[in-house]
Amino acid sequence: MQNQVGLYIHIPFCKSRCSYCSFFSTTNSLDLQEQYFNALKSEFSSYKEILEDKTIQTIYFGGGTPSLVKSHLIKNFFEYIISNFHVSQDFEATIECNPDSITQQKLLTYKQSGMNRISLGLQAFQDRILKLLDRAHTVDQFLSRYELIKKIGFKNINIDLIFGIPNQTFADWKETLKKVIEIKPTHISCYSLETDNNSPLAQKISQEILKLPSENLNRQMYYFAKQALRNTNYIQYEISNFSRPGFECKHNLMFWQGYDYIGIGAGAHSKFGSQHYQNIKNITKYIRNVENNNNTRGNIVKLSKNDEILEYIVVGLRLSRGLNLHAFEKKFNQSILTLYPNQIRNLAKENLVEVNYGNLKLTEKGMDLENKVLAEFI
Ligand code: SF4
Repeated sequence: MQNQVGLYIHIPFCKSRCSYCSFFSTTNSLDLQEQYFNALKSEFSSYKEILEDKTIQTIYFGGGTPSLVKSHLIKNFFEYIISNFHVSQDFEATIECNPDSITQQKLLTYKQSGMNRISLGLQAFQDRILKLLDRAHTVDQFLSRYELIKKIGFKNINIDLIFGIPNQTFADWKETLKKVIEIKPTHISCYSLETDNNSPLAQKISQEILKLPSENLNRQMYYFAKQALRNTNYIQYEISNFSRPGFECKHNLMFWQGYDYIGIGAGAHSKFGSQHYQNIKNITKYIRNVENNNNTRGNIVKLSKNDEILEYIVVGLRLSRGLNLHAFEKKFNQSILTLYPNQIRNLAKENLVEVNYGNLKLTEKGMDLENKVLAEFI
């Protein structure tokens, strides 16, 4: 287990800012894209020795909007990884794309370079809601790009959706799910809206210009998604993620199973050994620091054993199959059942967790009250 790592590459460029976004990206630095990719290469080459005895299992280009940059930059960097590091034969390589910036030529380039998974941001199936979110695409644009992705031969496609948006009715959400299920992607993510506190949308909500759906409606939307997706042969393998059998996102699974991951690029997070760190969230500074062989890492946090255990529990319990008792014991030299006997007994009594086939997992009720469960351990 310790020999496998996931690789995340952050591409912090966007055409415009969505009204809710909390990710690090800028809309006015695209002219730095060539320099940025040179810096990515230099930063990653500094991992050569550390990764000597490791295998990269998954590669994920996230953002920002990776599909906004020139596709040969993605291709060259991807080929650099493949030819200079140990990459697993059955790697998963994902690129996040937005419908407004993806083209046939870019998709062909990704395909030719060996990328095998596309994650497409839709969010909602109503143009008025996309407008409220300041998304740069329309529903029609999404549909035509989705067809293009399939035509070019990508077999593994994720669609990102959001529920709990102001002005989004239950009927809107039902329609979104229905239309997305009809086009049969292999993977669907359904996240409840989260807004950055400083985002325009959060401000409108706090000024009561817009109103979030009630907590009750938010939960109804979530239950409906679970049921509708279950009825159409999607497996819920994580609190917010659903897939056809065998199409779970391997990259995110690595994260939820506590594997190490390395984040390259401005603002990217890494977890390696017992350290967490994040690169500086400034594109120009990041490039300058890499060029001058200076540190790119901002916050470096050394985790205690207790921190590592808690983190393992917090991310592991997100999975429907839960946290494997044997893997836990192997990693921490003690059983989770003896480490938290009272907490687990009490949570089981309340029907929030259960031990099943060697895994500690949340029940349906526990998935809904995840924060209450986690609070017991913290
Ligand atoms: S949500 Fe995605 S596309 Fe929109 S601004 Fe944020 S990173 Fe860019």
